[in-house]
Amino acid sequence: MALPSKGRLREPSWSLLEASGVDPQEPGERVLQAHCRNAEIDLLFVRADDVPEYVQDGVVDCGITGLDLVFERDSDVEVLLRLGYGSCSLQAAVSMEDSATEISDLEGRRIATSHPRIAAQVLAERGIKAELVSVAGSVEISPRLGLADAIIDLVSTGSTLRTNGLRSVGVLFESEAVLVGRKGSTDLEARKTLTTVLGSVINARANRYLLCNVARERLDDVLAVLPTSGSPTVMDLATPGVVAVHALVPAADIWSLLPRLERSGASSILTLPVERMVP
Ligand code: AMP
Repeated sequence: MALPSKGRLREPSWSLLEASGVDPQEPGERVLQAHCRNAEIDLLFVRADDVPEYVQDGVVDCGITGLDLVFERDSDVEVLLRLGYGSCSLQAAVSMEDSATEISDLEGRRIATSHPRIAAQVLAERGIKAELVSVAGSVEISPRLGLADAIIDLVSTGSTLRTNGLRSVGVLFESEAVLVGRKGSTDLEARKTLTTVLGSVINARANRYLLCNVARERLDDVLAVLPTSGSPTVMDLATPGVVAVHALVPAADIWSLLPRLERSGASSILTLPVERMVP
């Protein structure tokens, strides 16, 4: 399995493997390979940009990289799992004082990008003719240097755009970290195990286990505010007339949920992290 050796995807990819329980062995300085203690997985550390190529050519069976890199490299690999981190989008941006407000306003203009393939494809799909200038890095300074009128670059928070006096005029592509596998692999059993285990950690991270107590006559009020897709567990407590409710809820909803639960009569509210979740 190929893992990003540096850059933004390195740390979160390593902690995903650690959380999955395969117990990856920390490689020494400048060591490119490592093993996992609890699973028959050999790890190869390469640049995120090179992972699609390594997988496509069968040097490794699978690897973690950015979805943008899979498309930019036009790699013939299978996306096995979206990993829920490394989220960013490929956006077109112009300097603050530019008159453009949408991507179609870039017709006939010069655009610097480190993602020329995706950029060319999306512009062609939208019928926009523009001149693409391919640059390897520091795309955001191109307008200031007079190299281009606009840029097409990866954005996550937007702070790099703002720092460089740029303003987004639209999104071309949404990306996140993905697990990719070799096409036509025959080792489907190992692949299924890996996607189930990594998937269980990703699902778990997006949820919290919620426990609370409520008087039985207010149970329906509490159940009505729970944003749970499955059926909550309701159990009698030793105190007559009071029940405990247990439910799995999306982590993103916790912030707004707690006050609503209190208003619905819930007390002793606890939320716990979930380690694994296989639906
Ligand atoms: P690296 O260049 O090794 O740091 O990794 C770049 C990859 O991280 C990209 O191909 C994206 O998939 C992902 N990524 C996430 N957020 C950003 C961002 N704001 N800028 C660039 N890459 C990002």
